[in-house]
Amino acid sequence: MKLRIKETFTTENPSDSILENTRRQVTEAVFSYVKPKKTKEPKVIHVSREMASDLQISEQETKSDFFKNIVTGNTIYPNTRPYAMCYGGHQFGNWAGQLGDGRAINLFEIESHNKNWKVQLKGAGETPYSRTADGLAVLRSSVREYLCSEAMFHLGVPTTRALSLSLSGDTVLRDVLYDGNPAYEKGAIVSRVAPSFLRFGNYEIFAARKDVKNLRSLVNYTIKHHFPNLGNPSKKSYVSFFKEVSERTLELIIHWQRVGFVHGVMNTDNMSILGLTIDFGPYGWLEGFDYSWTPNTTDSQHKRYRYGNQPNIGLWNLYQLANALYPIIEDVVPLENILDQYKVDFEEKSFQMMKTKLGLFSNHENDVNLIQSLEDNLQLVETDMTIFFRNLSDFSDEKIAFELIKKAFYTLENISSDVKNKWHLWFKNYSSRLQQELLSPAQRKEKMNAVNPKYILRNYMSQMAIDEADKGNYTLIDELFKLLKKPYSEQPENVKWFAKRPEWARNKVGCSMLSCSS
Ligand code: AMP
Ligand code: MG
Repeated sequence: MKLRIKETFTTENPSDSILENTRRQVTEAVFSYVKPKKTKEPKVIHVSREMASDLQISEQETKSDFFKNIVTGNTIYPNTRPYAMCYGGHQFGNWAGQLGDGRAINLFEIESHNKNWKVQLKGAGETPYSRTADGLAVLRSSVREYLCSEAMFHLGVPTTRALSLSLSGDTVLRDVLYDGNPAYEKGAIVSRVAPSFLRFGNYEIFAARKDVKNLRSLVNYTIKHHFPNLGNPSKKSYVSFFKEVSERTLELIIHWQRVGFVHGVMNTDNMSILGLTIDFGPYGWLEGFDYSWTPNTTDSQHKRYRYGNQPNIGLWNLYQLANALYPIIEDVVPLENILDQYKVDFEEKSFQMMKTKLGLFSNHENDVNLIQSLEDNLQLVETDMTIFFRNLSDFSDEKIAFELIKKAFYTLENISSDVKNKWHLWFKNYSSRLQQELLSPAQRKEKMNAVNPKYILRNYMSQMAIDEADKGNYTLIDELFKLLKKPYSEQPENVKWFAKRPEWARNKVGCSMLSCSS
């Protein structure tokens, strides 16, 4: 396996001068060199062929012991030096100080097909940033990250990718519900890949420490490698940098809203500077359309990271980044203008996104009301978001409308006449609105089906794959992996996955309730 190794991150950014792997505050450095932990009996259980081929790793090579040892941290690729990154972050609205890669270890950079990729292991052991935890990851959270990051990619949502999912062969102690009942679980390692794993928190940590020199140098590195169109370092390019991060963040969150993805922990240390979905923890997919839903039990009281609040939190996080960048810009006005623009752009982009979900391409003054009343209706009784929007592309006239939505309702009993009337009225308005569209029904359907996925990684689906994997059976992981490669296609042979969440999964841990324990 011959990789085209590149070293920009470690050669152009300051490293921690201490080489011992001890837990501590690391200052004036972007990263610390660290070695992954050797594991007892590593075993690769799945590989993303698409990702491997993007890195020019052949299928044959992914089956080798060498590959297995690299992606589980048991062998260091020749002439490379793994490292963990230093970052801080605002967690649940409060500054948390230094966090850092507590259980992520970057292996190397690869140059492939004119792209630069960083390859990172999650769950490969302690780093100086592990704080009180063990640096390891369990199988369940690793299956979830592995499947979801590749599913996101195929949905067309910006995301970090996954290359492989492996068992470490070691066990890991976890208290899933934080209720004093820890148990041993199988340890696992995901190798994940992105052009950069830099987060808002990487910049915040320098600002918090008033280390303007290193803040500026990290921004310069970021612009040079990831935003080269912004030109040479200057206050002007720093403002443009913030503008682009703001735009990408909004773009990302609009995608999440479109597909019904709830990240679950939008702390600033989980916000990618490239606008990628990063750190798949207690995330979830909407089943019933509900703005107040969050899968994260750790956040169940205030629901800060609920579905409907993601756009606001994106903005809140950008405020923190603006504060962090202020020392190198020294002018609040352009930063405030960008933040104000986010609000304006959000209204417009989310409106346009909803219009495409409804198959509306011309403009009409009542569209805002039509969308608003749809969102209200969807929350009258529990209505499956994915099924509703997918079936909506089959809408032809008001008479079959109720048949279409029936499939999305979680209960058909006790639907009041008030609810029925509201739906009836909405479909009547929708039907007359469609008359003003120029596209044929078939053309409209095609366009709608390209933005309304048929298959998403429902929470219970991951859980089924996890339960099987725990018993040593990985076929469901493979089945879901393949299914989610074509989320917008009909795939008649897989239609069993186009179904509402089964009742057994309604209140099951791992399906509707997830904690940060991973
Ligand atoms: P998260 O909520 O998963 O984004 O994690 C927040 C911080 O805790 C990050 O700095 C992680 O690297 C760290 N962390 C989470 N789990 C572990 C673990 N098992 N061992 C060490 N650090 C961890
Ligand atoms: Mg994180």
